[in-house]
Amino acid sequence: MQILDGKQTAAYYRSKVALKVEELKKNGIAAPRLAAFLIGDNIASAMYIKMKEKACAEVGILTRTHVLDAKTPEAEIIKLIKDENADPQTSGILVQLPLPKHYDEKKILSYIEPSKDADCFLPQNIGHMFLGDETTVLPCTPLGVMKLLKYYKIDVASKEVCIIGRSNIVGKPLAFLMLKDNATVTMCHSKTRDLKEVAKRADILVAAIGRAKMIDSSYVKPGAVVVDVGINHIEKPDGKHETCGDCDFESVSKIASYMTPVPGGVGPMTIAMVLYNTLYNYVLIKKLDIKMDIEP
Ligand code: NDP
Repeated sequence: MQILDGKQTAAYYRSKVALKVEELKKNGIAAPRLAAFLIGDNIASAMYIKMKEKACAEVGILTRTHVLDAKTPEAEIIKLIKDENADPQTSGILVQLPLPKHYDEKKILSYIEPSKDADCFLPQNIGHMFLGDETTVLPCTPLGVMKLLKYYKIDVASKEVCIIGRSNIVGKPLAFLMLKDNATVTMCHSKTRDLKEVAKRADILVAAIGRAKMIDSSYVKPGAVVVDVGINHIEKPDGKHETCGDCDFESVSKIASYMTPVPGGVGPMTIAMVLYNTLYNYVLIKKLDIKMDIEP
């Protein structure tokens, strides 16, 4: 079994983004900026924002993080988003989700200028993606999965791909990207009958469920490629905390041909794609003559 090393692969894609940012600077063009909104006191969200800030710094992308408490009036958040929309250096805007429950997530996100959407969360961009517009920004986690497979030269064309999980940010857009690359895709969810039997048909099995270690080898065809998107934080019997995926790594790794670990699999790829999208938006907004080819 070969590990699909997200850390190493993300470092490769980050280095490609860094070269492009360097190219901008050499041409006298200021670096793009990612504007992030961290609202409330969600510990995981704070951690993700820190990781994104660190990764941006590494590739030369500027960051501005609006750290706001959960009592911040909605109007103030919207005003700050509008300010970022108007700032010519900001090309990526992301509101770290989930927001505290009393906010209207959809409404707040709708104020982001679509050309500065860093995550492809906006309906306008999702629509463009589904209609096959080659220039639109793509959602970070699904894009990260596709780039990870590409890095390891795993071709999805004509393969049976099974995706467990149908969220708007992972499962559904990933199914679309797989389909676009000519895979035969089956989508599964909590109401799927005979999940094991369906999953076992897959050449490439993706778990995006949010259930710690749910997928063991009994769901996997021998030799399948397994991508574990899940990030779960569990308490072990000894009271220590563990971060794990939706797959039982020990069990699945005995039977898979390739597999992503958690941590160190899809997570770093998602962050690398936030950087890519921020730069990609910048190049489009400013109509720069920079090729965004970052493939190995
Ligand atoms: P959601 O909770 O939005 O969706 C979960 C999906 O899993 C739903 O479609 C649900 O089905 C399905 N599901 C739940 N239980 C079962 C079950 N027993 N059998 C089959 N299907 C089931 O989750 P997200 O898509 O947002 O996230 C999924 C996981 O990925 C989480 O662990 C999250 O932390 C992680 N994640 C990781 C990222 C990364 O960068 N690595 C980025 C984003 C998320 P139904 O629709 O029927 O309810």
